[in-house]
Amino acid sequence: MSPDPLSSPSILVIEDDQRIGASLERALGGSGYRARWERSGEEGLRACQADPPDLVLLDLGLPDMDGLDVCREIHARHPTVDILVLTARDEELDVVLGLDAGAVDYITKPFRLAELLARIRAQLRRHGERSQATTVCGDLRVDPEARRAWRGEEELELRAKEFDLLARLVADTGSVVTRETLMSDVWDEHWFGSTKTLDFHIAALRRKLDRDGAPSRIATLRGVGYRFESA
Ligand code: CA
Repeated sequence: MSPDPLSSPSILVIEDDQRIGASLERALGGSGYRARWERSGEEGLRACQADPPDLVLLDLGLPDMDGLDVCREIHARHPTVDILVLTARDEELDVVLGLDAGAVDYITKPFRLAELLARIRAQLRRHGERSQATTVCGDLRVDPEARRAWRGEEELELRAKEFDLLARLVADTGSVVTRETLMSDVWDEHWFGSTKTLDFHIAALRRKLDRDGAPSRIATLRGVGYRFESA
């Protein structure tokens, strides 16, 4: 197979370890990806800004910045870029913090290259499935690429955060999305108790979304989160 150089997914490696970085760059290139390798958090952020990749492989132990801060910053600036965290620390807390900071997956060092490549393939596949679709849910239509939503023929006038919230809930229609997940995915913030902002935006969204007198499309699970109802 000789992949089309422009259509093959691009992967940015942010890793200060010379040996690991070089072998990743080589292996990714050999697997048909467009691979770039940066050795520090600053350089990684700059490379991401200049040309956002499809996926970032991010080492958490970087010389110049906390890898979690790099993760947060990439996620805030480029929410559609998937971040897979490489960590030598397999403590549960680091993993949770990494996922809260916007990472979609993690792999602990030392790892087998074959496993890492399998994870990357799986992630890019999920990404492809996620980004293509306008979601239709009853009379509601949500287009994440265009950031527009319609109820029937009528376009909803949503503020940025209201749209993000709706898109996030609709992505898991029928399932509860926890308050923590909403805070971290929509506001990119850690959740330490006060979620008045979340409740405020849910209320605003309901006013725009729900028809008069009909039950809300967004169900509240007290203290847990919200669920977008399928119909
Ligand atoms: Ca390192």
